[in-house]
Amino acid sequence: MLPYNQHSEALKRRFGQKIFKVTLDAGFNCPNRDGNRAWGGCTFCDASGSSAQIAPPTMPLAAQLTTGIAKWQDRFGSKAQKFIAYYQAFTNTYAPLERLREVYQVALDHPDVVGLAIGTRPDAVPDSVLDLLAEIAQQKYLWVEYGLQSAHNSTLDYINRAHTVEEYSDAVQRTQARGLDICGHLIHGLPGETPQMMLQSVQKLVDLGVTGIKIHSLHILKGSVMAQQYRRGEIPMFSQQDYVTWVCDSLELLPWEVEIHRLTGDGLKHLLIAPEWSQDKRKVLEAIQREMQYRGTRQGAKARQAVPKTSGPGSF
Ligand code: SF4
Repeated sequence: MLPYNQHSEALKRRFGQKIFKVTLDAGFNCPNRDGNRAWGGCTFCDASGSSAQIAPPTMPLAAQLTTGIAKWQDRFGSKAQKFIAYYQAFTNTYAPLERLREVYQVALDHPDVVGLAIGTRPDAVPDSVLDLLAEIAQQKYLWVEYGLQSAHNSTLDYINRAHTVEEYSDAVQRTQARGLDICGHLIHGLPGETPQMMLQSVQKLVDLGVTGIKIHSLHILKGSVMAQQYRRGEIPMFSQQDYVTWVCDSLELLPWEVEIHRLTGDGLKHLLIAPEWSQDKRKVLEAIQREMQYRGTRQGAKARQAVPKTSGPGSF
């Protein structure tokens, strides 16, 4: 048994079978790229808008969904029956309500899609959008993914995140008020951050009561601003052992109820410049598990707060 509460297992408990995620690119932009909030985007973001999906965004959404489902079925045969539509690329609430309704309807209409995951920014969720998401959550399971990356405004400034920790907290609270689950994202290894700062970011998400978390190491990706900074020697790199230590310390702080969506980056090998070791996702995960075993610890061993604020596994 894993020493942490893996999201894929929680989904299996919720739906009684393995659930597969299909990542989608609905053709949205990002307010941090188009000048609405800022220009150029987060300095770690590549041209694909932090999407691991390599499907062409010009493909109609319904076709992206059926193609993604077919790929899982080719690989897993009859085991691949139920799916989550993951609206991942760029900012998936950044459009007029009617357009959003159309985009989410594609997932609602597919009989084998059991849920939706909506990746977005805290400054792109006015109450009207959250009301729409709450309405959709009455029909299919839905969670919202908000990148925080760091709970330190100085770091958010440095990486041109163009929102503050306070805005993040406000978006989370308004989302929770509608009973929606939330997955928070953090990046460990951002320039200028100490291990203590990373753990403070983890604790911030715990204090906010998110129901899930994704952690990955800083990736220097081709096409990002950080790639230029890295080449100029401005971004210090860290070892796999450093990252494993940070992740295990983070897991100990996270209450067991918080679902672990991810502890490594995914699908970016073709863009990755550094750190090289992060290409081997399995090796990183095995090192995390070994370190947890060596410590004789598990997720939540040092948690201060026990229960996320919205629903847990099986509550939909
Ligand atoms: S908010 Fe997301 S899509 Fe927008 S620039 Fe940052 S990482 Fe990229």
